[in-house]
Amino acid sequence: MIFEDIVAVDKLNIKGMANSRLAKSVHDAGWGEFNEIFINKAGRAGQLIVKVKPHGTSTECSNCGHKVKKNLLQRQHNCPQCNL
Ligand SMILES: [Zn+2]
Repeated sequence: MIFEDIVAVDKLNIKGMANSRLAKSVHDAGWGEFNEIFINKAGRAGQLIVKVKPHGTSTECSNCGHKVKKNLLQRQHNCPQCNL
């Protein structure tokens, strides 16, 4: 099988998150349901889905690997090392 693109998704521990302080957000957003629908649709469209460990995916620079700490309100990545 030839895949056009690769889509990487966080391998989220939904049950664990539902027992944390993020519980209301997790339930409101229906993350688990969205994840399943997204993976199913993308798979049918010929996308290769790769589940990756979520640890560090929001802090590590995708260009140079430098760790850039962010809080939950920061939605934009600005790397001081490579200026991405
Ligand atoms: Zn960088």
